[in-house]
Amino acid sequence: MARLLDFIVGHQKNIEKLLSLKLQKRWPHAFLFTGPNAIGKRKVALAFAQMLVCEQSETACGDCGPCLRIAKEQSENLLRLAPDASMAKPVIKVEAVREVLDSLSLSSWSGARVVLIDEAHRMNPQAANTLLKTLEEPFENVYFFLLGPDGQQFLPTIKSRCQMMSFQPLVVADLKKIKPGLADWAYQASRGQIDRLMQLTSADGIERRTESFVFLEQFFSDTEFLQNGNWRVNVKDKSWTLATISAWLQILYSVVLAQAEQKSGSSLISIEHSKYFAKIKDISSEKILSLADYLIEAERDILGNADPVLVFENMWVNYARVD
Ligand SMILES: [Zn+2]
Repeated sequence: MARLLDFIVGHQKNIEKLLSLKLQKRWPHAFLFTGPNAIGKRKVALAFAQMLVCEQSETACGDCGPCLRIAKEQSENLLRLAPDASMAKPVIKVEAVREVLDSLSLSSWSGARVVLIDEAHRMNPQAANTLLKTLEEPFENVYFFLLGPDGQQFLPTIKSRCQMMSFQPLVVADLKKIKPGLADWAYQASRGQIDRLMQLTSADGIERRTESFVFLEQFFSDTEFLQNGNWRVNVKDKSWTLATISAWLQILYSVVLAQAEQKSGSSLISIEHSKYFAKIKDISSEKILSLADYLIEAERDILGNADPVLVFENMWVNYARVD
């Protein structure tokens, strides 16, 4: 039995909406699923891909050939597009889109086909425009799922041709169902994303977080931060910087929460990191929240290829001198 819907945790409202569209035969030819990474958007898309191709049931039987092949992601009915990971800045190229669209136009095919586009916001403009033509004049019995972080990163023309559906981060209870037995602070700190949760709780993740906290302390207390170049070497490493931003966000939110609840914050932070927590607990929550907003922006800029060193220099100028 491999009915994918049965394995999905969370997203109940979205699933109900999707099921009702499916049962009322009002399924649109293209969906754009938006929301953070690693919360299950792709799993939901595959579960409904199964329903679209199943030969036995409107809501997928899980047992027929097409259902089983979708579950293994080895199905001729399932065409996938994703950014070319070998590139320095991975994008989905127009050639890849054309290849998929060409195979869709083969008339010999019978049955439904599903096109799943991971990180669809990484289509370059040419690729997006090529796809757009197909979305405007869709093939019969072909269904698209575009996945991406948020609607803002898509051309309005693409959005207007898709039914949009936004997905929320997983709640702690759902995280616990998916990955049971981890420390409570990690569930709280994961921002509802399984990839972050795993990163936070790995040995490497814990070591990195210590580094992140040491760096946060330097950020707040080093009056010669811009002159001291030592941090620049680390910050140039994008993955280090993104892990750092994530850790900083978590500690900042924990501080604000602890201030609001007048708690020590120990439930949100691992014991080994609580000493760093103590050092910034007296900064005003207003300051902390504005830095947190900036960090979210910084994360997006760095993912979009901004120079991380410049981002941190700006951030220090604007936010480090806290009173
Ligand atoms: Zn089936």
